[in-house]
Amino acid sequence: MAKIKKKIKTITVDADKCNGCRSCELICSAFHATPKYSSINPARARIQVIRYPMKDIWLPIFAGEYAPAECMGREKYLIDEKQYDECDFCRAACPARDRFKEPDSGLPLRCDMCEDEPPQEKPLCVQWCFSDVLIYEEREEEVEEAEEVDEAEIGLKSLVDKHGLNKLAETFARMTQKG
Ligand code: SF4
Ligand code: SF4
Repeated sequence: MAKIKKKIKTITVDADKCNGCRSCELICSAFHATPKYSSINPARARIQVIRYPMKDIWLPIFAGEYAPAECMGREKYLIDEKQYDECDFCRAACPARDRFKEPDSGLPLRCDMCEDEPPQEKPLCVQWCFSDVLIYEEREEEVEEAEEVDEAEIGLKSLVDKHGLNKLAETFARMTQKG
């Protein structure tokens, strides 16, 4: 497979500085609203802050890959001798829970680093975090050329997983006839 230069974008989370203000969730949901900035709904954000005030933890988690099936096991986390819930630190949109799913449609959400035209100087959650929790870096790496999977394709795949191909094909055919 051919090698290509790819820009790798990284956000490092300095979790100790997070105060749970949720500005990152608000701006992410506003940026991804349709039309852009027309609404704010943290349930639509591709970053979600896990809050355990009684356990002294506020941890931002970024939405990662879509998982069509829930995993066979569960992880438990012990931090400073406190145990945190299973799945809390997982980044996947998966059938086991509602996190990282669009609330109305149930379609999976994934952090896209605020891809935009013209490009943002930095991802918006980084710009809106005034506590310097989110540290953005870019670097170039040589990687094997892989097929890009866009958001529409991921959304379509999740609909096929949920409803089956035949049902979707019937629905599309009906919609096309109405149009
Ligand atoms: S904006 Fe920064 S401090 Fe506020 S919740 Fe998000 S990561 Fe934490
Ligand atoms: S980088 Fe952009 S898309 Fe990703 S969580 Fe932050 S605001 Fe949302």
